[in-house]
Amino acid sequence: MTPAWSILPDEWKPILADRGLRPFRADQILQALYRDYIQSWDEATTLPKDLRETLKQEFPLTPCRELAVSASADGTKKLLLGYADGNSVETVLIPARERFTQCISTQVGCAMGCAFCASGSRGVVRSLTTDEIVAEYLAGRRHGEITNIVVMGMGEPFNNYDETIRALKLVNAGRGPNLGARHITISTCGVVPGFARLAAEGIQFELSVSLHAPTDELRSRLMPVNRRWPLDELLAACAAYTKATKRIITFEYTVIAGVNDSRAMAEELARQVRRVPMAKVNLIPLSPVEHRPDFKTPDDATMLMFLDVLMKRGVQTMLRRSRGKDANAACGQLRLHNLNSKKEP
Ligand code: SF4
Repeated sequence: MTPAWSILPDEWKPILADRGLRPFRADQILQALYRDYIQSWDEATTLPKDLRETLKQEFPLTPCRELAVSASADGTKKLLLGYADGNSVETVLIPARERFTQCISTQVGCAMGCAFCASGSRGVVRSLTTDEIVAEYLAGRRHGEITNIVVMGMGEPFNNYDETIRALKLVNAGRGPNLGARHITISTCGVVPGFARLAAEGIQFELSVSLHAPTDELRSRLMPVNRRWPLDELLAACAAYTKATKRIITFEYTVIAGVNDSRAMAEELARQVRRVPMAKVNLIPLSPVEHRPDFKTPDDATMLMFLDVLMKRGVQTMLRRSRGKDANAACGQLRLHNLNSKKEP
């Protein structure tokens, strides 16, 4: 059995030819999967019944049930999605002007243990497969036309590189969902080997790096990944990536009151980021996380001070809002709520 949502559009014709089926059946299958967005092969009524039965047996559609939806006053929706083995992930849908962005998870939980993150607070359970990630995208797609994907949900995408990239290639495929590569952003906490691999793909996905601290001492405390790949190595990999791809890297910097929000930190951040040609910074005020009540949201004056310091040093910087706070929409919080309410060990 091969899950249908793990097969790239161009792979269908040879697969069907091996079974003695005519090439136009591939077009009908792709139409059913990515134009009609079927949830069961029984809905693919353009296909003959015996072919639908074959597809059911050999190319099943991956179960992905919507277990909970939480909606925020700002229009953000967070979906809790359950897979056949009982594991669940979150995906977040964020409307903004003409965009409808989906934040995708790539793992159940996360091994990286960032101090401010709900997803990392219970470790990783397992990685998602290609079809599970595509099923997650399609679950979001049922709430509206997705214009952008950010791979910033639960999990570290470079720790599940092959399945994640294959799923994104499928979503990007012209005869699949056909979402433009430049509308897909992969976000890593700094797993350095992933940079060269992604550069070698030759695909125009966007790349963002969660930085969150400009010194090794602080970053190692907030993000254990920094002990494995400290700032010098990380920024060298970023610089090599921008040189090889001629593409901008975005650094995400979540500002946490009293932790990484001083003027000295802002100045050091500017100095570090300027080591990477073609870089920009997104500044995000921390969303409160239940498991770290000591981490507080910074005030507006602090955010503006940071912006000012970076801009004056020539760093392209954007202030971002944290969306969906009242929907448990900060990373990993809906799943955490669900697990807590079930009193899982
Ligand atoms: S911030 Fe990202 S990499 Fe860090 S623990 Fe959370 S999900 Fe993992």
